[in-house]
Amino acid sequence: MNTATFRFYEELNDFLPAGKRKIRFPVSFENRPAIKDAIESLGVPHTEIEVILVNQVSVDFSYRLNDNDDVAVYPVFESFDITPLLRLRTRPLRTTAFICDVHLGRLCRMLRILGFDTLYRNDYEDNEIVSIAQQEGRIVLTRDRGILKHKAVSHGYCVRSSDWRRQAREVIRRFDLSHSLHPFSICVSCNGRVAKVSKSAVIGCLQEKTKRYYDNFSRCQACGKIFWEGSHYAKLQEFVKELADRA
Ligand SMILES: [Zn+2]
Repeated sequence: MNTATFRFYEELNDFLPAGKRKIRFPVSFENRPAIKDAIESLGVPHTEIEVILVNQVSVDFSYRLNDNDDVAVYPVFESFDITPLLRLRTRPLRTTAFICDVHLGRLCRMLRILGFDTLYRNDYEDNEIVSIAQQEGRIVLTRDRGILKHKAVSHGYCVRSSDWRRQAREVIRRFDLSHSLHPFSICVSCNGRVAKVSKSAVIGCLQEKTKRYYDNFSRCQACGKIFWEGSHYAKLQEFVKELADRA
């Protein structure tokens, strides 16, 4: 048996049992496993990792462990724009688009309200999520870190909170998106593009009260749903403003 010493930094410790958090601890292994597999067997998904140092030298996921290696593992740093290269990724994602797992329906709605192209279905299988993410260059958002261990997932994030407001804050902060919000530009129902329309263009579809009290309308170009600045619009705007202000 060989032994290497591991130390995980910052929020990567969320994935470790209490006794292994924020300390150096030994890990025994046979042969020379890839460092990616060794790290994931400790419970930390590779998508959470930005930099790995072995004996103070930066290595990539294919590095094979040696006896007595001293391994330091760092998270994706809090503030980064999604566009520049990440050191451990072969290809950066050019646009920010998400796919949510089955537990994140409300987060999906919120991300759409904030203007992010986001896919969600309550019957997605894990392997469907993985293959859609890969084909369409989407960031996987999940509450189940198992999905993130998939080799084919290059960009992903394990959402910590169970409250959708906090989840939205987490995602915006994690991917440094507070300058990239385009509120009310994506359809909450179908993820289509929403564009402004004149009142006269939609007046035939409106109920009496809506006709009377509202003048500004927009319509989803995919499903045709009509939006106006109704009562919960103000609340949502407040939330959007709060997210932008945290920048
Ligand atoms: Zn729509």
